[in-house]
Amino acid sequence: MRKVIIIEDEQDISELIQLHLEDLECETVAFRNGKEGYDFALQNKFDLMILDVNLPSKNGIDICRDLRANKVHFPILMLTARSEEIDKVLGLETGADDYLTKPFSIRELVARVKAILRRVEIDTNADGDDDTIEYKALKIDRSKRKVEINGDRIELTPKEFDLLYLLASNPGVTYDRKDLLNLVWSYDFEGYEHTVNSHINRLRSKVEKDPADPEYVLTTWGVGYRFNDA
Ligand code: CA
Repeated sequence: MRKVIIIEDEQDISELIQLHLEDLECETVAFRNGKEGYDFALQNKFDLMILDVNLPSKNGIDICRDLRANKVHFPILMLTARSEEIDKVLGLETGADDYLTKPFSIRELVARVKAILRRVEIDTNADGDDDTIEYKALKIDRSKRKVEINGDRIELTPKEFDLLYLLASNPGVTYDRKDLLNLVWSYDFEGYEHTVNSHINRLRSKVEKDPADPEYVLTTWGVGYRFNDA
């Protein structure tokens, strides 16, 4: 049974989401107050959070950022009402995995939730010691979803990990932004290819000694990104 926490102050939207998640055999818990939902999410484990941006007492962007700062890494799907909120979600390095703009169709929501839960399942089922990648000071352990630099653990969000693992599994291969959106986000995400750029920048700030002169995640100018194969 997948456990999903919903923080959304509009009751009809919250109930609609709960209803459809129960069809996906998810166990749900819902909060309408941002601070209360945040406190509960800090104390309990979930497979997914569905998080509204505009909330009483603590907004979704602060919730997302503070959860990540407290090493809470379960996937977060954000619900944004306005385009300027999308820019905040993408631009302020909140650590959200995905977002939907209101009004959204429930079909779209269900598709996104399924995609996220499928990735969680693949990660959980991955086993064995043979899926460790080592390059220079960097070590990636896929089954543990653990990344180390010189033996020090680096905390990555699920998306940052997926990006890094995909690139590092195929060193020297250039992926354009559209490829990365499709492979890492699992659906067509038209018009938001700069999502990839912002995730790459964040990933580099965590794994690279000098993000301006990266040694792991390289830019193929005018095309996309590749992992160093030198
Ligand atoms: Ca709201």
